[in-house]
Amino acid sequence: MRNRKKLLPAAQEVKAMHCAEVGKPLIKFDHCKRSIYSFGVPQCCPLCRKDMGSRKLEEAPVSIANPFTNGHGEKCSFLLRPTQGTFLREYDGRSDLHVGITNTNGVVYNYNVYGVQRDETGWEQSISVPLLQPNMYGLMDQWDKYLEDFSTSGAWLPHRYEEDRHNCYTYALTFINCVLAAEGKEHLDKSEFTEKHVVPRTRLASKYITLHRAIEERGFYVTDPAD
Ligand SMILES: [Zn+2]
Repeated sequence: MRNRKKLLPAAQEVKAMHCAEVGKPLIKFDHCKRSIYSFGVPQCCPLCRKDMGSRKLEEAPVSIANPFTNGHGEKCSFLLRPTQGTFLREYDGRSDLHVGITNTNGVVYNYNVYGVQRDETGWEQSISVPLLQPNMYGLMDQWDKYLEDFSTSGAWLPHRYEEDRHNCYTYALTFINCVLAAEGKEHLDKSEFTEKHVVPRTRLASKYITLHRAIEERGFYVTDPAD
C-alpha cells in the first residue's frame, strides 16, 4: 500500500526535472549566409560578432521541434526510451531500447524480466507513437480495461520473459495487434511496425541528439543553409 502524501514531494521533483530531461529549447537562425543552431537567440552572431538586434524578417529564428515528449502525458500511445539513462545524455544509436504502452492516465505498462510493470515515472523523455485514431473514442473508453486484462494474462508472467524472443517489444506489439483487430485493421509484424512508426522517429531523434550535444559543447552549431 503506497502513501500518496509521501509520494507528493517526489512527484514534484520529477516534474521540475522534466524540463531538464527534454532538453533546452533549440532554435535556428540564418546569418553570414549560414544556418546557426543554438539554445535561444544570442546577442550577437557567433560568426561575425555583429549585433543580432536589427534582424530582417527572413532571418527570424525558428524553433526546432523536440522529438521527445513526457510519456506520462500521452494517452494510448506506444513509448520508446533507452533501457538505461536518457536519449539526450546516454543514447549512442546502439543502446538497448525499452518500450511500453500508456493507458489513458499516462501510466506506462511495460514488460520486463519481473513481469508487467505499471510505471508512473521514468518515461519523461520518450519517443511517442499515438495508437488511436482521433475518431476511435469508443475504443478509448475500453482502453484501460483492455490493457489491464491483457497484462494480467499468463503470457506475461516473469518466468516467460526471454531477452530475444518474448520481451517488451513482443508485449507491446501483441497488444497493438489486439487493438488493430478491434479496429478491423490488418495485423502488423515487428519489422513493419518498426519501419513505419519507429524508424522515422528515431532517425529524427538521432539528428536532434547530435545537434543538442554539439550546442551543449560549443554553444552553437553551424551548417550551410541547404542542409
Ligand atoms: Zn553573422
